[in-house]
Amino acid sequence: MAVPAWLTRNVFHPLWALKDGSLVRRYMADAERAQFLPAAELEELQWTRLKALLAHAEASVPYYRDLFRERGLSASDICSWTDFEALPLLTKGILQKEKERLKAERLPDPSDECQINRTGGSTGEPLEFLSTRRRGELREATTIRHNRWTGWDLGEPMAVIWGAARDLGGIATLKARLRFALLEKHLTLNTVSMDAARMRNFAEQLKRHRPKTWLAYANSSVLFIRFLREQQIEGISPEAVITSAEMLSEQNRRLIEETLGCPVYDRYGCREVSVIASECGHRADHAMHLAADVLKVEIAASPPGELGAEQGKIIITDLMNFGTPFIRYQIEDISSFAQGGCSCGRTLPLLAPVTGRTSDFLVTADGRVVAGTALTILLLAELPGIARGQLLQYERGKVTFRMVPAGDPSVETTREILAACRGALGADTKVEVEIVEDIPVTPSGKFPFAVSKVDPFEVLQ
Ligand SMILES: [Zn+2]
Repeated sequence: MAVPAWLTRNVFHPLWALKDGSLVRRYMADAERAQFLPAAELEELQWTRLKALLAHAEASVPYYRDLFRERGLSASDICSWTDFEALPLLTKGILQKEKERLKAERLPDPSDECQINRTGGSTGEPLEFLSTRRRGELREATTIRHNRWTGWDLGEPMAVIWGAARDLGGIATLKARLRFALLEKHLTLNTVSMDAARMRNFAEQLKRHRPKTWLAYANSSVLFIRFLREQQIEGISPEAVITSAEMLSEQNRRLIEETLGCPVYDRYGCREVSVIASECGHRADHAMHLAADVLKVEIAASPPGELGAEQGKIIITDLMNFGTPFIRYQIEDISSFAQGGCSCGRTLPLLAPVTGRTSDFLVTADGRVVAGTALTILLLAELPGIARGQLLQYERGKVTFRMVPAGDPSVETTREILAACRGALGADTKVEVEIVEDIPVTPSGKFPFAVSKVDPFEVLQ
């Protein structure tokens, strides 16, 4: 029998946090309060947090220590947002090159600890960085806050259409199984490996367990919904779908909403800093509230005529990660600030819909569909020796992995790529590795990690 949501929310979740020495419950209360703070108080909170981060970066992070020294500056000289905005940007290239010098030598809170984190990146560039345990707990609290905007509450099961094995969490250990049974209870369609049988099985589970909220890769949820329509499977009616990780087009939003009869809440985030902004359902233009209590977001100025008015690359400072400080971190995605307030009453500032990450599906020789977005973790984050990568497919069962090597290309790297591709795509899928000097991002910020000319519906019948 499933554990009731109220019991998870009020008993198991607080007890589990206590057992782990986690501050997530305190962070949850802080996050709920922060979303309604008057603008001046929110800015003051950001400023206080920023000053602490800058002081820590100067004292304990070699890259920033040198950066301040070279400029004849001290963190205490930064007295205004204008001063702050004069600091240089942190690009993905710098993060790749300086990853060791960007790691903190010590943390200000002795009860905190660093954890290594990796991402394939939304632009095909693998990154490694440290985040702290406290930042992880804070991420959980922020995600819970943003999920609650959709009508979901802690303890309620979700349907999860997601790909990264690490995000899904293993359930191999007893502790993990217990945590899953008491706290998470999600139903999962793993987008690393989808075929007609798995989709049909997932649909059956949805009908049986009726989770009211879905959390999904935008494109994978669309693929699943098209499958439901073509197979004429009915009787699945969640109350909300949260889409994330990929761009959601207006057309796809309408398809999800019309098929399921419920609203879509789009979300923007990345592994480096977690949830950045989410829809609350009150803005007709689909603007998203920023997690501005934990992040400072700027929009870079763009050359005239290249993008729409007020649009530019998104720049993020994670005010709360003391492991690898992300200070003025430039993401290749494009957006602008949305004007006006929101009738939901939340004062968190608003970001317009984001242009950027996009990825196709790959079709394997053995008839599975694999979400390109999911493969960024398996192929980029986990493998050394790659500066940027991209998968191309022109016919079923055959894939080219195009890559810019980090340093001299090695036979070993090629061998590891081939092994990882075979693991994900099956032994019968032919894989070629092509070494190139550059794979540029388009001026509009788009970088498809996987480009395929094969219709995934070929095999989903
Ligand atoms: Zn709102």
